[in-house]
Amino acid sequence: MPDSGGPVAPERIADVAAAARILAARGVVDGFGHVSMRHPNAPGRYLMSRALAPALVTPEDIVEYDLDSEECDPDAPKGFLERFIHGQIYAARPDVNAVVHSHSPSVIPFGIAKAPMQACFHNAAFLAGGVPVFDIWKHYGATDMLVSDNDKGEKLAECLADRPVALMRAHGSVACGSSLEVAVFRAVYTEVNARVQHWAGALAQEGEDLAVLRDEEGVLADVPNQTAGMRAWDLWRREIRDETGW
Ligand SMILES: [Zn+2]
Repeated sequence: MPDSGGPVAPERIADVAAAARILAARGVVDGFGHVSMRHPNAPGRYLMSRALAPALVTPEDIVEYDLDSEECDPDAPKGFLERFIHGQIYAARPDVNAVVHSHSPSVIPFGIAKAPMQACFHNAAFLAGGVPVFDIWKHYGATDMLVSDNDKGEKLAECLADRPVALMRAHGSVACGSSLEVAVFRAVYTEVNARVQHWAGALAQEGEDLAVLRDEEGVLADVPNQTAGMRAWDLWRREIRDETGW
């Protein structure tokens, strides 16, 4: 059983729980999906809800794991089957401090059709430069599609490489960021961007290329997203505080 990385400020634990509810309220997660945050003082640990629908998560449901996704508390409640996604991304990516895994519906078509997901507007600037698609079949043949052990998590993290978002064929996606707030922002705007791209594709003429963000525009536009864009987090976080009192 791994040691705990030590106590975490109650406000940050509440933020992890609130992030799950924010993602549910924005339609990014439903009964499934999860969000985690790296332990602020112990890079080899992370914090995530026990296996529970995201809209129901409270601060008491947050569990600490090591990067092999083993619970640090022997009495910890049952965790998510796919928690290995989180541990392996933290292991591969020292720059990542939060991860969201979701099955948000507008995103899924881009993991099964040939059309690549593109950055259609400035709030989704982080998508410029490419969105890899993880195909579990290529590594394991027929599976239940779930990233349910460390080996599968490692393969997904390899596919993600240095990108902020990866799609998972016929399953969902992962979004990550340097903070909890940035990862939630990216998960929300990946879903919004997917909707915008579907609409734009319907408007486009035969053979027309969409006038999406260029890679260099994506790099520039992602900077204000990570500062002024946090106004969105402040709004979403307040809605949860009004609803729950925490
Ligand atoms: Zn999943």
